[in-house]
Amino acid sequence: MTKIGLEIHCQLTKLESKLFCPCKADYREFEPNTNICPVCMGIPGSLPLLNKNAVEKATLIAMALDCKTPNKIAFFRKNYFYPDLPKNFQITQLNAYGNTSIGWEGKISVENKEIKIRRIQLEEDPGRLIYEGVTEKTKLTLVDYNRAGTPLVEIVTEPDFETPHQVREFLNILSDLLENLNVSDPGLEGAMRADANVSIEGGSKVEIKNIGSFHDLEKAVHFEITRQQSLAERKIEIIQETRHWDDGRKITVSARTKEEEAEYRYHLEADIPWVRIDDNTKNQLQLHMPESISSKKERYVSKYGITSQVADILSSDRYFSELFEKANNETNAKDIANMITTDIMGLLDTREKREMSKLEGDHISDLVEYIKSNKITRASAKLALDEVIKNGKQLSEIIEDLDLGHVSDEATLSDIITEVLDEEVKAVEDAKQNPDIVNFLVGKVMQKTHGKADPELTLTLLKKNLGL
Ligand SMILES: [Zn+2]
Repeated sequence: MTKIGLEIHCQLTKLESKLFCPCKADYREFEPNTNICPVCMGIPGSLPLLNKNAVEKATLIAMALDCKTPNKIAFFRKNYFYPDLPKNFQITQLNAYGNTSIGWEGKISVENKEIKIRRIQLEEDPGRLIYEGVTEKTKLTLVDYNRAGTPLVEIVTEPDFETPHQVREFLNILSDLLENLNVSDPGLEGAMRADANVSIEGGSKVEIKNIGSFHDLEKAVHFEITRQQSLAERKIEIIQETRHWDDGRKITVSARTKEEEAEYRYHLEADIPWVRIDDNTKNQLQLHMPESISSKKERYVSKYGITSQVADILSSDRYFSELFEKANNETNAKDIANMITTDIMGLLDTREKREMSKLEGDHISDLVEYIKSNKITRASAKLALDEVIKNGKQLSEIIEDLDLGHVSDEATLSDIITEVLDEEVKAVEDAKQNPDIVNFLVGKVMQKTHGKADPELTLTLLKKNLGL
């Protein structure tokens, strides 16, 4: 049987500062090696000071994943030498001396299968190595320590996955969950990376290291299963090793044989005292935990009658569910939800567009109200949305500026209809035999009015003109 386990590294991107020093947790905008200080550079004599918010956010993750949580946590030094690690050790956690990491024994349900979480730990991210050209052939490697010391949560699963698809689904669910908790922005480059352990019946465990895209991870796991099966068929031993995903060639390549845990010489980090997490703190965290995606979905369906499919899309996206909550005035919830999922999600499909957007909840509720009361057509509503997103003006102002108001004045419409009927002689003939052609004529009127004609009135007037 195929067994796959994951180790996911997730940055707590919503924090102000790094895990043990005041440098910025958001290192992405800095020039290389400018977001550093003696603590994250491991200068002798400097002392780490634990970021309390990081402990709380990590505990929130543990609770949301149904983990058991400790009464006190401890930190350990994991010793190894690598250029991206300025101190030559990483401050991390290890469940020695009892369960002293952020959480353990949790679970997530994926496609009706329960994936068990073995443990969650809080640790610091190393710096970044930047290679010139292809990693294996590079002549030049640069080191940027801006990331060193950034708060990282490691989530380790049991080897409960059986297919690459389950792995992908799990990562999607986890990423939505982290975003919903407001602890991380998984869409940021490098914010979520994963290692996968893959083994087939009778073979050793192979680890695939550090993949930043879920899509690539799914492909890498798939490739690895196939590679191992092919070795087994040819009676070649599958050795325990670490492999990298080569995105260019779409294969995994051998990197190094894996260190044994003992080689890391873990020992207690004496510079950080044990930290108590008392029941009161846990209760407060639980109390202020954002509503879960599943309960949000259930509420949307049961309270507002939103379809399960729309509720699913809306609840799993933090940005759009917040927009929905702001727009929702309890009267038009269903229409608001539909407008967000059908029109707005398409218009705001990238992080950049969402950041630039001036769209507020009120705009959406107003727009829905305008459509319902026939002040604007759906086609014009789309134009108005485009404009609101750009400039955030009041809806009434935009409708006036762009002249998007409904043409429901009978005299004006009749003139336009006469024009259309004169132009479409053939269609007029056909319409008398085939009622579908009438819709074609409605479309022509819409074209002439730039989508502003009242559709019902247009139809009535057209039929009258055609003697239908
Ligand atoms: Zn620092």
